[in-house]
Amino acid sequence: MKNLKIILSSFKEMQRLEKRMIPSSVLVAVVSAIMPFINIWFTSKIVDLLDTGAESSTLIVYILIAVGLNLILFFINNFLGDMNYMFRSIMYNRENQNIASKLYSIEYQKLEDSEFKELLHNHSEAQKRVYSAFTQFSWMLRDFLSGLITFSISIIILFPLFKIGFTASGPSFFERPIFLITLFLMIVIMVAVILAVNLKMNKAQFVAGAEYSRLDKLFYFFLNVFQDYNTAKEIRLYKEQELIEHVAVDKIVNNGEKILRRVSLNSARSSSMIAVLGAIAGFGVYLFIGVKGFYGLYGIGSLVLSCGAFMQIISGIMKMAATFGRTAELIPLAEYYFKIINTKDEMQYGEKTFSTDKFEVEFKNVSFKYPGSENYALKNINIKINNGEHLAVVGKNGSGKTTFIKLLCRFYDVNEGEIKINGINIKDYSKDSINKLYSVVFQDFKLFSIPVCQNLSTQEDYQEAKLFDALDKVGLLNRIMKMPDREKTYIYKDLDKSGIEISGGEAQRLAIARAHYKDAPIVILDEPTASLDPVAEKEIYDRFNQFVENKTAIYISHRLSSCVFCDRIAVFENARLVESGYHQELLSNKDSKYFELWDVQAQYYKT
Ligand code: ADP
Repeated sequence: MKNLKIILSSFKEMQRLEKRMIPSSVLVAVVSAIMPFINIWFTSKIVDLLDTGAESSTLIVYILIAVGLNLILFFINNFLGDMNYMFRSIMYNRENQNIASKLYSIEYQKLEDSEFKELLHNHSEAQKRVYSAFTQFSWMLRDFLSGLITFSISIIILFPLFKIGFTASGPSFFERPIFLITLFLMIVIMVAVILAVNLKMNKAQFVAGAEYSRLDKLFYFFLNVFQDYNTAKEIRLYKEQELIEHVAVDKIVNNGEKILRRVSLNSARSSSMIAVLGAIAGFGVYLFIGVKGFYGLYGIGSLVLSCGAFMQIISGIMKMAATFGRTAELIPLAEYYFKIINTKDEMQYGEKTFSTDKFEVEFKNVSFKYPGSENYALKNINIKINNGEHLAVVGKNGSGKTTFIKLLCRFYDVNEGEIKINGINIKDYSKDSINKLYSVVFQDFKLFSIPVCQNLSTQEDYQEAKLFDALDKVGLLNRIMKMPDREKTYIYKDLDKSGIEISGGEAQRLAIARAHYKDAPIVILDEPTASLDPVAEKEIYDRFNQFVENKTAIYISHRLSSCVFCDRIAVFENARLVESGYHQELLSNKDSKYFELWDVQAQYYKT
């Protein structure tokens, strides 16, 4: 029942994604199913005409009509097939686009949520196996309908055969109804067996496919590892080739071969079984048709028609059977798709906007645990950040610094306490107002393979003066102006092969420039100098006040030397804010956590 619902929803979604998809599949199915019967019917008619000595002009008319119809249907079939293919591609693109736009617009906390992460993982795994549920459903619809129409037309053509020449006490077995009943039962059994074999074969193929795709994934993982020059150094230095060949390549190739062999053996066995069954049933029906012909119950033309129609019955059944087995592997993928698409944001936003350019942020008794986590990432945090203040947040890895920023940006809501901006709970402001409040450079910032200017403006167009100013502030203006297309130069080569590769440090400066361009009132820099060389780092420190101008700034770092120029330092440890004060003030207390951290780092850095 649930599966049926998913199939129905899938067809609705296919209709929504590309409304020409289903009608064109139905049309292709009808035309491709009708085509063979045109030939069968005309052949039988021409044989009949020859048999009855009809005039050659009549014969020619029939032949011409047959050829003409074939030509027209051939064109229609090809044209529709191409259109069908195009609609399918459009539908597939829109399906992916739907997933993509869900992913870039859904609230942040979902992307870190383990359940949602697993859903995305399952979806992409299933997609690797079966490509796209809706695309496959559209093939299935076409094949199933075509099979059904073929089967139905064949039955209609064969039907008159069952009515002629039967007597309860006929002279031979072949003329008694029992012959027809036996034959009919045989066909029913054959259909059932073919369906069962097909289903079993598809299931086995599905299991083997999943097994093989696991190996395939492993293989590509290793391939990526081997292409990475960082690993390549170690492989060569430690002479790891033999080990790799033994533990990875051999295993993957041998196991993969075993699976493939099993799959092809399995399918060869099933296909031969189906072929034998088809041959037996074919023999029975030919016997039936032949005997009737032998007793002179109908003409040779009808004989041709019946034989042709019978062959089509088999092909119709095979087509329908082939589609049934596939649903089992498609339903999970469709289900994952619907789950992703229907995931809703949970955070509620207020309507309030900011009517001032002064901002005061306050954490009041704030505690927070990540969903599903036992431990507090932040515990009972109380801090007020005044307008224009430059605050450094320091602490060891895992002490809660980034979480502090995530809460501030409202990527998550606090579990206890509240965050206030200008005295009002952060939840009362609109999403847009909160967004406009911050310029953030995350430690794991991302730039896109698009022109420099668009990376900074995050729009298609940009304000030149503002852009140059931002680039100048990070010391990149000269470098960018010397690039082939100046600020319009693509960075990285993914989208444009003339794109420029930039170093990690340059990328980080661009990320800072982007934050600058946004010109938000509160600037947050999360380990902004992590991938910079010491000279560039010093330059950033020296320019710090220029970066943040008169804005409120939060500076996260585990490098304490960067705190010297901040107004205040907040020290985090084990999810708690343990100290807060000025550099000299904290340092003067030899028992302070800050002093301890400073002391340790002083041994490594000349500060
Ligand atoms: P810091 O920025 O100081 O290195 P974080 O704020 O990133 O520390 O992490 C604080 C704690 O929260 C750590 O124990 C970390 O393992 C945990 N944590 C961080 N992100 C997540 C997450 N998405 N899900 C669960 N726990 C997390």
